Amino acid sequence: MMHDLAAIFLTHLHSDHTMDLVNFAVCGYLQGWPDGSLPVYGPWPRLIKAADYPKAQLEPGSTRRVPGTTAMVDNLISAFAADSVDRALSGRKATLDSRMHGVDIAPPSSGVPLHSSDELDPWVVHEDDRVRVTTILVDHGNMAPALAYRFDCDSGAVVFSGDTAPSSNLVRLATGADILVHEVIDPEFGRREFGEPPYPDHQRILIEGIYAKHTLATEVGAIAQRAGVRKLVLSHYAPSYLPAEYWRGQVSGFHGAVHAGQDLDSFDLH
Ligand SMILES: [Zn+2]
Ligand SMILES: [Zn+2]
Repeated sequence: MMHDLAAIFLTHLHSDHTMDLVNFAVCGYLQGWPDGSLPVYGPWPRLIKAADYPKAQLEPGSTRRVPGTTAMVDNLISAFAADSVDRALSGRKATLDSRMHGVDIAPPSSGVPLHSSDELDPWVVHEDDRVRVTTILVDHGNMAPALAYRFDCDSGAVVFSGDTAPSSNLVRLATGADILVHEVIDPEFGRREFGEPPYPDHQRILIEGIYAKHTLATEVGAIAQRAGVRKLVLSHYAPSYLPAEYWRGQVSGFHGAVHAGQDLDSFDLH
């Protein structure tokens, strides 16, 4: 339940993974948002050099600091401060800045590559008397850092891939877990969106970019099998309108249970 919430973990800062955060906090007081300030863990800031991204429309020779989770949460709180303070003045609830705060996860070492296809050891980002949370870098194209999380508790272990192309780091993090929640994309995504190829450049670049940073539904079974998880839960469907049986039917090579995940699903670990 909401009042048991101890922390929120963001895998990466794409808007489809963050835009509901402030709504969740603003409206959460009606659903039992916990007392005190909730930590929102997520990616750390990064420095981008224009020279490394020749296709980007950045001023040549310039650098840009991309904010991390702390700055993003601070700015969300600021953006909704007028609303938050007004509601606090009426005595109905606390101000938003006292309900949550961002935490930039510390990278395991300064030498870690941001586009990680190199094998890493998972590292601990949060631990309390009920759960230990570990993370690892996964491969989500130019969006970096992109993280997967593993939650170990007395009952078992659950891993969330976040958004990623097939990743050996993800397999490493998920090894021996009970449940792997993994993103999937439809192998027919390009055809469904734009019809039969060939495609004009702008569509081809979009399609290739999407395939390069996500995992085909036909690939995810082998990933779950390599990790040796008990149950595979499919998630983050692209496109979103295909039925559950279609997604399950795309999975092969996995000997465990496959579930096409939906919002608010819950599973027993035993
Ligand atoms: Zn993403
Ligand atoms: Zn996404």
